[in-house]
Amino acid sequence: MSEPTTDPTADPAADLASDGALETAVGFAAAQAILKPRKARPFYGRHPWVLDSAIHHIQGEVADGDVVDLMTDTGKFVARGIFNSQSRIRVRLYSWDIHQALDDAFWRGRLETAVALRQTLGLEKRDGACRLVFSEADGLSGLVVDRLGEWLSVQVTGLGIERRLDGIIEVLKELVHPRGIFIRTEKGIASAEGVQLRDGLHWGEAPSGPAFITENGIRYGIDLAEGQKTGFYIDQRENRLAAARYMRDRRVLDMFCYSGGFSLNGAVHGGAREIYGFDSSAKAIALARANAELNGVTVAKFEEADCFKALDALKVNRERFGAVILDPPKFARSRSSLDDALRAYHKLNRMALDVLEPGGILVTCSCSGHVTREDFFHLLLGVAEQSKRGIQVLETRGAAPDHPTSVTCLESEYLKCFICRVV
Ligand code: SAH
Repeated sequence: MSEPTTDPTADPAADLASDGALETAVGFAAAQAILKPRKARPFYGRHPWVLDSAIHHIQGEVADGDVVDLMTDTGKFVARGIFNSQSRIRVRLYSWDIHQALDDAFWRGRLETAVALRQTLGLEKRDGACRLVFSEADGLSGLVVDRLGEWLSVQVTGLGIERRLDGIIEVLKELVHPRGIFIRTEKGIASAEGVQLRDGLHWGEAPSGPAFITENGIRYGIDLAEGQKTGFYIDQRENRLAAARYMRDRRVLDMFCYSGGFSLNGAVHGGAREIYGFDSSAKAIALARANAELNGVTVAKFEEADCFKALDALKVNRERFGAVILDPPKFARSRSSLDDALRAYHKLNRMALDVLEPGGILVTCSCSGHVTREDFFHLLLGVAEQSKRGIQVLETRGAAPDHPTSVTCLESEYLKCFICRVV
């Protein structure tokens, strides 16, 4: 009988030793992160986050931002990633192939694949907005890139990506030819990851005034330098249109309206009779008003207010609506705040039902990754019970397909948008 053929993953040390060049070549690891016993399973399952608590020790010299190999306690290669001592996610994994270097060609390949997907989705129009790179869901943990018309808005949430940003930016320039690239840093990320806090134009030219995009045939002005998130909530593109289909001749309340996306779709595509949008941010309300004007929409009125207070006041004044949209900010920022968040979502939905007429439409969203779809159903059950009203879920929706979900990192599934009829 002949010898079994060598499985390269079975004995990585031998494999690397047989080709000494590998150890020192660019993109290969000089050090290994050795897992604690029985901690390897999620990483064989290709989850990309190795928390500090899963690692037993580091073998060899490694600095933040360096490539490191993840090994089992018995010395088997699991995956290749990037080390960061400043983050709870001690290693972010990018490849499960022992022969794959994390070199320039690797990052270019991942970016090309991500951009090609958006072309497949028909989202390459120069005046449109789409998410070109969605972190873990595109195998690029720590990088988010939105294209807003002719500009790119880049968010860096991992140190490994930050260290390679110059190369990544060059590839993006080549692939999508933007006029300018902005970098935005989410609150709290700089300290959690040890990445530099930056906000503003990074390369190229800035638009003179707002950047303009078209989505679902509606024009929006976007504040690239100071707008929320990367400037526009692109993930709701298809939900705005879906919700609009239920708005005909209805009086609509658009809570947490930001730049007016749900309102404008309700007016332009849905034929809503009148629309009231509320947001606590004065800048958001200014954007929403400007966008309504830009599209010749006169049925939508926007007002700066806290949505909980506004709902209270509307109830007291016995105002009633044929549709209510709830698109609040992330209430659950961590697992520990989940219970408080669920209570807040419950309260909000309960209050919405108080101003929703029988047979009315409730469009209710949650962008907290920690709140599962099942949690959300359960929450609506509680609301139905307490308000003694029937809730029929007509559509359970998520983020638009340029925000894919990686089945090996379910944290990439975050947006729930349920369209319901309330009897
Ligand atoms: N529906 C919007 C996106 C909403 S994002 C769209 O389609 O584009 C969440 C919004 O909630 C933000 O604009 C933020 O300013 C607002 N917000 C946060 N807390 C609020 C509160 N307590 N009351 C009213 N608005 C609030």
